[in-house]
Amino acid sequence: MKPDLIIIRFGEYMVKGRNRRQFEKRMEQQIKRVLVPFPGTIMSHAYGRIYITLHDESYDAIAKQLSLIFGIHSFSPVKRTANELEAIRAAALDLMTTLPQEPGTFKVSVRRVQKDFPHDSQEMNHLVGSHVLRAIPNLKVKVKEPDVELRVEIQPEGTYVFNEVVQGAGGYPYGTNGKAMLLLSGGIDSPVAGYLSMRQGLEIEAIHFHSYPFTSEKAKDKVIDLARRLSHFSGVPIKLHLVSFTDIQTAFAQSNQETLVITLMRRAMLRIAQRLAEQSWALGLVTGDSLGQVASQTLGSMNVIGRTVELPLLRPLIMTDKNEIIRIAKQIGTYETSILPFEDCCTLFVPKSPSTNPNLKIVQRVESSIQTLDAMIDEAVATAEIIELRSESVNVQEDDGSEEWF
Ligand code: ATP
Ligand code: MG
Repeated sequence: MKPDLIIIRFGEYMVKGRNRRQFEKRMEQQIKRVLVPFPGTIMSHAYGRIYITLHDESYDAIAKQLSLIFGIHSFSPVKRTANELEAIRAAALDLMTTLPQEPGTFKVSVRRVQKDFPHDSQEMNHLVGSHVLRAIPNLKVKVKEPDVELRVEIQPEGTYVFNEVVQGAGGYPYGTNGKAMLLLSGGIDSPVAGYLSMRQGLEIEAIHFHSYPFTSEKAKDKVIDLARRLSHFSGVPIKLHLVSFTDIQTAFAQSNQETLVITLMRRAMLRIAQRLAEQSWALGLVTGDSLGQVASQTLGSMNVIGRTVELPLLRPLIMTDKNEIIRIAKQIGTYETSILPFEDCCTLFVPKSPSTNPNLKIVQRVESSIQTLDAMIDEAVATAEIIELRSESVNVQEDDGSEEWF
């Protein structure tokens, strides 16, 4: 079957949510943007759904783009026909005879939205089903888990016939749940944390701390590449704040508190991130922390590290296993970049045995003993470089459907 159009469905919130109009508007903008390379298409909005009329544009190419848009719950390629029994039967049979794989079993599910259609849904199930059965001799009806569920929707404007329901990316449309700052290292975790935040409707700006010239241009390029890959999912450019951490890091390294260096660095990062967040009207800080992963991510460390800021700290991966994080990183196309072997500022001065349970009072004492710390933080904020990144095309791995993340 060559589909005439695509039906796009949203999550529950689109129907019931308080910000319904805003969600719908964002959704329309996002979809419109991916349709730019397909000028034959026409988008329309009806009854809490979006329809794309294809006019010979490629369904597969458009479907690939739609599957990346946050807020889309599912979509279906459909054949549209007249609200007339014989036309519906013909479209149903056309679908059943042009499936990529010949089915052994099927069932018909009719939804009659147009109430003055002469047959109710029960009768229609039978009228369409018997027509298909007569034409395809070996086919059987199976109510539970058939090979194909042939769906027929009789709407006032026409009847839609389809069998495929493709899972969308889910979540909320980008930017409909506020804005947060993502602390983006060059590692595997933080791009995934960024992706999950975006999928939940957060607009993000990213911050990366570098220790140039101790860290190289290549390390910076790697983070730029990661931010650009994330912008593929936002559909709009993402701002990346590049912050020099060299002086602060050097001061901590000289403080003779080897076991606390990472704690001190993380606190300074959060303080700077909070300042930049306030400047950008962002209301939260997102990190790639995962409980227990390294010394700075024990509960004891996170308690001491987090106390330095007031904005909410959002840690989408906090309870996620590393294998799962890697799986998502591969799926969203950030993994290969993340594993490039360029040094990060934090890997430079890593102590042999960082504290897993730092003492807040001692940490605060060390901080106040570095008299220039506040000035260095001011300087880091003032000299942050901002670049805007927009995506080119990114290779996103097909979902194998084995997990529930997407
Ligand atoms: P990732 O967690 O992304 O794999 P990593 O393992 O190098 O990178 P950690 O040491 O686990 O990073 O740091 C925890 C979190 O702190 C990161 O997920 C990130 O949010 C933040 N972070 C660490 N280093 C930096 C940096 N140089 N710039 C910005 N954020 C950073
Ligand atoms: Mg990590």
